[in-house]
Amino acid sequence: MIKIFSSPYIAECDQLRMLLELAGIRSDIRNEFGHSIGLVITGGVAEFAAPEVWVDDSDHADAMQVVQTFMRSLRDALNPTPEPPARDEWHCTHCGETVDAALHTCWNCDAPR
Ligand SMILES: [Zn+2]
Repeated sequence: MIKIFSSPYIAECDQLRMLLELAGIRSDIRNEFGHSIGLVITGGVAEFAAPEVWVDDSDHADAMQVVQTFMRSLRDALNPTPEPPARDEWHCTHCGETVDAALHTCWNCDAPR
């Protein structure tokens, strides 16, 4: 088994696990309750025990692709890409009016685009 993801938010681990399942990859969540425990003592050193997602070594490459897609979706959720610009308008060469992109002829003089 190999760890592919860790987050203090169990919901993110759950989400990723669901995506992995959809991709046909079996995964385990470890430290599932780490977020509520917060600290574990490892060899005398206190560490934050964040929930972790683990998969079989043989699934590692495939799983990392799912993780990358997942991370991108998390980032996009934080920084949504701006709305695409409105459809391009065009200018009638005949009368100079601005015409909506959906129209193929000028609304004013009926000249074709
Ligand atoms: Zn026109």
